[in-house]
Amino acid sequence: MKHPVLLAGALAAAALVAAPLPLEAAKPVVCAQCVKANMERLAGDELRGRGCGTEDEHVAARFVADTLKRYGVAPAAGTDGYLQPVQLSTPTAASPPTLQFTSGAQQVALLQGRDMAAMQPPPSLQAPFIRLSDAHASPEAVKGKIVIYDSPIYDAPGVQELLRAGAAAVIAPASDVILTHWDDLSTRPPGRTQIAGVERRAGRPTGVTIFAKADAMAALRKLEPGEARLDAPQGPPRERTTYAVIGVLHGTAPDADRHAVLLSAHYDHLGVRNGVIFHGANDDASGTAAVLEFARILGLGGKPRRTAYFALFGCEEEGGLAAQAFLAHPPMATSDLAANLEFEMIGVDDPKHPGFLMLTGWERSNLGPTLAAHGARIVPDPYPEQNFFTRSDNYQLALQGVVAQTISAWPIPPTYHDPSDDLAHVDLNLMDQVIGSMVAPVTWLLNSDFVPAWNPGLKP
Ligand SMILES: [Zn+2]
Repeated sequence: MKHPVLLAGALAAAALVAAPLPLEAAKPVVCAQCVKANMERLAGDELRGRGCGTEDEHVAARFVADTLKRYGVAPAAGTDGYLQPVQLSTPTAASPPTLQFTSGAQQVALLQGRDMAAMQPPPSLQAPFIRLSDAHASPEAVKGKIVIYDSPIYDAPGVQELLRAGAAAVIAPASDVILTHWDDLSTRPPGRTQIAGVERRAGRPTGVTIFAKADAMAALRKLEPGEARLDAPQGPPRERTTYAVIGVLHGTAPDADRHAVLLSAHYDHLGVRNGVIFHGANDDASGTAAVLEFARILGLGGKPRRTAYFALFGCEEEGGLAAQAFLAHPPMATSDLAANLEFEMIGVDDPKHPGFLMLTGWERSNLGPTLAAHGARIVPDPYPEQNFFTRSDNYQLALQGVVAQTISAWPIPPTYHDPSDDLAHVDLNLMDQVIGSMVAPVTWLLNSDFVPAWNPGLKP
């Protein structure tokens, strides 16, 4: 799951209430030993948290590919033995960015990490600065300026409003959530990773968001308007390779490939940080293990009528990078996909719906209710304000029209992006139960003529 801090906008959709089926509906066809073994391999110490673009991640990709092969799933067209390599080029900082304010004889200097976290700063930026406590300023007052937005607490909509008004940069007080992720945020690369062969959609040019610690805000509060200068020198880009791992089971129907179903998850996690392994057992070894378990059951069982694709993506944690490459060069026409079910973090039980999974964007399509009617232990997403529907790899496919939704247990457990997200904090029994409950509905979907559809007006 991608981090929420920098996502703007929220789509508050009302969750519908579904009548969950009783526990007995879950069928014990899951191979608990297989799920456990795959979890232990993916989230074990040896793969060191499967960091994006690392050799550990590559070993994980080969493990996933070997497992698909063992389960009788074929490599998808255009892959190199299941692997679709993806070349990445990430900007690097030559030294930590600095931000210098000068007002008459007064000077304040902020340093990245110590005082501030400037997100994706340009190599240099010089502009007049002003201080505002109200985001509803006239565009003329803001345009091209470095704005110190002196709100009592972090105000994301206000920051967005100032950036939309044309501010070159907005400095805002860091919230508790931002402070919790300070090390991560302040050491992020100074620009977006380029993916070879993927055209970057030209976004609206926007200014720089800079989070400041309380001491820095206090120092800035004393300044009269003046000139500010941001320096963020870049080093040579960091070149890495990640992989989408893609398998296929061609269906038996004559038009099997025209109504295929894609089951997906991401196998990368955060890797090693400051010498600590972030194992990512729940995020998202659990989803990967679920997709592999479907591959095992379907691959070693009777072939379904419809074609099933199994895609496991790398570098999700850095922005769905392998998934973006997959979408730019898919092994099928995406218009031939009837549905995409993505599995993300199904290993920690959510107290809001114990023993059940949730489907993001439930109200948007007829897929969730139909699967639930066929025994899936899934309920509507009880966190619409978190906008999870747009925060996983399913979203890019959904934007292309495919009914693509993510299935999670607890999407924001206490172990989220924490070193405690390890095997000891994952409930394997829960995984077996919920995967088991999905086997019959997914098998039904792959043998039916049901074509999931967006509900009127709710296609993204
Ligand atoms: Zn994550």
